[in-house]
Amino acid sequence: MSAKTTPPVPVAPVRHRPQIERGADACGKTYRLACTCGTRGEEHCARHLAEWDLNEHVAGLPKVATGQQCRDPKRHDRRPWEPCGLCERQELLFDLAAEVAS
Ligand SMILES: [Zn+2]
Ligand SMILES: [Zn+2]
Repeated sequence: MSAKTTPPVPVAPVRHRPQIERGADACGKTYRLACTCGTRGEEHCARHLAEWDLNEHVAGLPKVATGQQCRDPKRHDRRPWEPCGLCERQELLFDLAAEVAS
């Protein structure tokens, strides 16, 4: 067993999967932001207002570091605001390969 230092393991990230939740009240149909992180927007009578909340929520999320951005979001099931461990690992492999080659 070597005493290699392992890179710090990131805390399990909160997943953000914001959606527009539909409901109904006295004024008719309602729309609200509902995210898997627990964020709930206010109820709105117009969908675009809920979408506004959604965009605001996404815009408020921390930016993903360049090396952690996903290059294959569909296959890896990542959103633009989510770091991708798979792609990050690939990046490290690339770096190692480049170091070996040089
Ligand atoms: Zn969220
Ligand atoms: Zn990825």
